[in-house]
Amino acid sequence: MGARCPAAGDRPAGPGHGGPAAVARRYDCQVAVQGNPSMTVADDPKPRALVDVAGLREAIAQFARERDWEPFHSPKNLAMALTGEVGELVELFQWLTEDASREVARDPVTARRVRDEMADVLIYLVRLAAVLEVDLDDAVRNKLAANARRYPIEKARGNANKATGP
Ligand SMILES: [Mg+2]
Repeated sequence: MGARCPAAGDRPAGPGHGGPAAVARRYDCQVAVQGNPSMTVADDPKPRALVDVAGLREAIAQFARERDWEPFHSPKNLAMALTGEVGELVELFQWLTEDASREVARDPVTARRVRDEMADVLIYLVRLAAVLEVDLDDAVRNKLAANARRYPIEKARGNANKATGP
């Protein structure tokens, strides 16, 4: 059994509200409240993965190993390749109106191109994370918790303004 979720009347614990673990637990609890209140991620002794990339990471590593491409996979090269693939994805939306951009999935050819570029982006991102030994699940969990702190629901609901300050 994990730590209990804070109740509505609970006071935040100490300066900084308890550090990353406490922030992550509060995020888990927010997820539970929006989903199934009777079961929280915090109650799970083996938390579910937010991003399950282990199989993908190994498949990409094997792909590179079989082609002897590992020497080319420096963080610099991978970051640049990732940026290139993001550019290819963005290009598919360039000059479209807001409404047209919402309709791209209706055209099978464009939908396929969007899907392919999204896959390229993910492949390079996962490969970059593997080379840099970044645990993507942990990184995503921490960033979501930080975003939840930065954009509290009561202030951010229906408001796309970017937060200012630290
Ligand atoms: Mg591509």
